[in-house]
Amino acid sequence: MGGRWRTSRSAYRTLGPHARGNAAFAPQPSRSALVTASKPAIPLETPEYAARWARRQASPHEELYALLDAVRDPEVPELSIWDLGVLREVREGGGGLTVTITPTYSGCPALAVIREDIAACLRDAGCQGFEIVEETRPPWSTALMSRAACAQLQAGGIAPPVPGAVRCPACGSAETVLVSEFASTACKAHYRCRSCLEPFDHFKTLE
Ligand SMILES: [Zn+2]
Repeated sequence: MGGRWRTSRSAYRTLGPHARGNAAFAPQPSRSALVTASKPAIPLETPEYAARWARRQASPHEELYALLDAVRDPEVPELSIWDLGVLREVREGGGGLTVTITPTYSGCPALAVIREDIAACLRDAGCQGFEIVEETRPPWSTALMSRAACAQLQAGGIAPPVPGAVRCPACGSAETVLVSEFASTACKAHYRCRSCLEPFDHFKTLE
C-alpha cells in the first residue's frame, strides 16, 4: 500500500510552540507599564489530549494525520482540526480508510466544509476509497484541544479555554470582565481587561 498516497511529514512539524513573538499586541506604552503581570502560563496537556496524541503516535497512518494538519475549522481558522480536537481517528476500515471527526457542537455548519476539506486533502494525496464518519460519543470538549492550540489562540489575542479565571491574553491580568456571551463566533465570549483596558475574545471552556 506504499504508493497509495504521497506523504508529507512536514505539516505537523510546524505545529510546535509558536514563536510569533509579541507583535500582535504591541503594548500601549503608558498603561501597560503599570501592569506587572506577564502573559498567562499555558497549562500542560490534558489527559484527554495525551490519549489522542498517543493514539496518533501509535497509528500506522501517522503521515495521514500529518497531512490532515492542513485542514482547519472555518469557525476557528487559527487551529487545525487536529489541534482543535475535531479529528478523532484515522484507521483502516472495512472498505478502506475511515476518518472519524467529532463536531465541536451539534449542527455545527462548519462540519460540511471540514468534510470537503478532508476529502480534498486525501484525494490530493492520491488516497482513494475513504469515508468520513461523524462520531458524537464521547462528545467534543475543550479538554481535547492541544496545548499548542491554546498557545496559538493566546498568541492571536484570544484567551484559551484553560481552568481558572479568564486572563487577559495581552497582559495576563485576571481582572477581566465579561462584556458579551457571544463574540465573532458562538464558541467565543467577549471580555475586556480592567488592567490594560484591551477588549479580547475568550474561547469558552466546554467540558
Ligand atoms: Zn490586559
